[in-house]
Amino acid sequence: MTIRNLAIIGLGLLGGSIGLAVKARLPHITTTGYDRSAEVREQAAALGLVGTVHDTPQGAVKDADLVILCVPVGAMEEAARAIAPGLAPHAIISDVGSSKQAVAQALARALPEHTIIPAHPVAGTEQSGPNAGFATLFAGRWCIITPAQGADPVAVAALSEFWAGLGSKVELMDAAHHDLVLAVTSHIPHLIAYTIVGTASDLEDVTESEVIKYSAGGFRDFTRIAASDPVMWRDVFLTNKTAVLEMLGRFTEDLTALQRAIRSGDGDKLFDLFTRTRAIRRAVIEQGQDDERPDFGREHGE
Ligand code: NAP
Repeated sequence: MTIRNLAIIGLGLLGGSIGLAVKARLPHITTTGYDRSAEVREQAAALGLVGTVHDTPQGAVKDADLVILCVPVGAMEEAARAIAPGLAPHAIISDVGSSKQAVAQALARALPEHTIIPAHPVAGTEQSGPNAGFATLFAGRWCIITPAQGADPVAVAALSEFWAGLGSKVELMDAAHHDLVLAVTSHIPHLIAYTIVGTASDLEDVTESEVIKYSAGGFRDFTRIAASDPVMWRDVFLTNKTAVLEMLGRFTEDLTALQRAIRSGDGDKLFDLFTRTRAIRRAVIEQGQDDERPDFGREHGE
């Protein structure tokens, strides 16, 4: 199956980046798009994120072989219901949602007659909206595809080829396993960042201006993650509840063990952990998932 016409629903960071990446790397694919916000539609048209911006979801998907829903996970079902009347019977419906079991269920409820192949490109930034998109967002990053058991292998192959065409490395995974893995690698880190930035801003005996002034000691790196879109992240925690709570339980136990080590002066325990975590940072860099320059490559000028 060859993808000739792609429709993107939701023209923010992810939707806009897919449109720009298709234009740069798969120019034979025609793109259309829709966003519920008239202002976003106007910006998307001005920025050329897709070939044609439509004013209705049905209009955008009319000729599409592939539709990718790029809306917050809590809006997936509503967006899928809105495109239903315009869909061609052969169209593949996919998405980029950060949690996969809940989205797969929502899409199956909304479009019971269609081929649904959920996916999650593990690529993003803390920014959102149509201006935040860029063509290279997916290059060298993983895209996890989570087909249900018995999903059409031709559709899975077509979607895999599409993401590989955008420069992604593609992996197939069971949706429940995806949710557990991403709870550790993405959802809990965001929860920790939101917590620590919130805690610092609530302190009474250390002023907010001091927190910001001395943030280069480490705090500022959490603020990048904690600046991520509130709607998107609210929805992630509400839809990946089980895996997040399970991993949070593990994290809390580990934190308590560290608290005990600090209280009892167990330097070996601290040293062993900090040595192991340093090796993980090295592995992230070796696998091309981050910049090897110290301090994330920040300039240290005057
Ligand atoms: P975004 O920049 O906020 O874009 C989402 C867009 O969807 C907004 O313009 C929003 O309009 C629009 N929208 C909301 N409900 C809609 C509906 N029912 N129909 C049509 N458009 C609708 O968000 P994003 O960062 O691209 O995230 C989109 C999806 O990608 C989420 O599911 C997220 O979990 C996933 N994801 C995000 C990242 C990341 O790092 N950001 C990475 C991987 C995957 P309004 O502004 O009017 O609400």
